[in-house]
Amino acid sequence: MEPAGPPAPAPSRTLAHRRDLAVRAAVADGLIDGDRLPVAALLDLTTIRETAAALHAAFAEVAAEGQRVLHTFAVKAGSLVPVLRLLDDCGIGAEVASPGELALARAAGVPACRTVLDSPAKTTAELREALDLGIALNADNPEELARLDDLLSGGPRGARAAGEEAIGVRINPQIGGGAIDAMSTATATSKFGIALRDEGARAWVVDAYRARPWLTRLHCHVGSQGMPLADMAAGVRATYELAEEINAAVGRQQITVLDIGGGLPVNFATDEVTPGYADYARLLAAQVPGLFDGRYGLVTEFGRSLLAKAGVIVARVEYAKSAGGRPIAVTHAGAQVAVRTVFAPDAWPIRVAAYDAKGLPKEGPEVTQDVAGPCCFAGDLVAKGRDLPLLAAGDHAALLDTGAYYFSNPFGYNSLPRPGVHGFVAEGDAVRFRTVREPQSLDDLVAESGGPHRDALL
Ligand SMILES: *Cc1c(COP(=O)(O)O)cnc(C)c1O
Repeated sequence: MEPAGPPAPAPSRTLAHRRDLAVRAAVADGLIDGDRLPVAALLDLTTIRETAAALHAAFAEVAAEGQRVLHTFAVKAGSLVPVLRLLDDCGIGAEVASPGELALARAAGVPACRTVLDSPAKTTAELREALDLGIALNADNPEELARLDDLLSGGPRGARAAGEEAIGVRINPQIGGGAIDAMSTATATSKFGIALRDEGARAWVVDAYRARPWLTRLHCHVGSQGMPLADMAAGVRATYELAEEINAAVGRQQITVLDIGGGLPVNFATDEVTPGYADYARLLAAQVPGLFDGRYGLVTEFGRSLLAKAGVIVARVEYAKSAGGRPIAVTHAGAQVAVRTVFAPDAWPIRVAAYDAKGLPKEGPEVTQDVAGPCCFAGDLVAKGRDLPLLAAGDHAALLDTGAYYFSNPFGYNSLPRPGVHGFVAEGDAVRFRTVREPQSLDDLVAESGGPHRDALL
């Protein structure tokens, strides 16, 4: 689909330029250091702010005058307090799916009115806390609704008055899966939400709303990376149509807010942002025009698309070797920071860029090589048979587009410490860094591995 209007200025040049400056500065400033800190993650704050602005603009362009649109960030995509604080500063709230994610959002100062709770396994205590705090929530299944019935039997609780509860039900429109099974939430047998096409399910949902005037929202998230935009729009359309049916059946506009989830896929092949939020918003406006006539408030829950392009993991090449004729760069970034790419390389390929020992882009003829991580299993490769300038010991390998779901979701294999995360702003040729997360110390690592209970098993 061609976006209307003049093409956006090539983002690749600015993004790549900022990235090059940041890698060089991170090496010069010792954020990456051969002995102590062989891997670090960098976050481009300019990209995050520009991406957040693009999201607001895309929906503002198609929304009705005065229509309420709340954008939230799926915290699992970047579970770092300063990142949540930055996004909140950009007008983007938080979609949380566990007590830990809620605690992070609260620590970041994200207000209850911009927080949505969506976990499929909420305990009664979590439900009670969300109601008491006045956080919006979406029930996943009939048993969860029954728990809410009990919690609300004495009338509304907490911060919201009767009629202002922000409670919805998640549906699965069962429109089918995308390219990645593990990312597809709208298959016939997905574990998420109420399976709308199952026998009797639609009528059950309509009755559930009729019986509960406090159900005022409807939620759907049809999946993430690998889902074509048309399928995402079909899921939103199914949600909208069900809301219309429920409102008609109860004879008033009981459902006032539609939560359309996240899932915009990210282009991991180049620096180009495609599809963009504007492509998706325009497709929604064409496919589901009623979404933007102002009768419904909207909630979105994008994760990957808000952060992926802003992040890079930079790792020192410790050794360069060769096996069976294949050059292999052994680096310090593997499964501990790129777990999906290492375990499902076909679904999650990422780009690797070569930098030299000073952090300057490495020149030279491309050579087919593997880029390996430090973990002790053979599959710990972030790129296999990749054509790159030949990496040598002391060089750096940069894992691109890793701002979402990579370093923020580390894997504790081989007791490798979590790397530091540094936000950066490039001004002219100067780069300013801000600590987002300290590199994990070995003392910390020992402590979280039962260090304080050393003698417990004697
Ligand atoms: C993971 C998730 C999202 C975010 O998905 P992205 O693909 O990162 O945009 C949004 N909503 C729900 C309910 C999710 O589980």
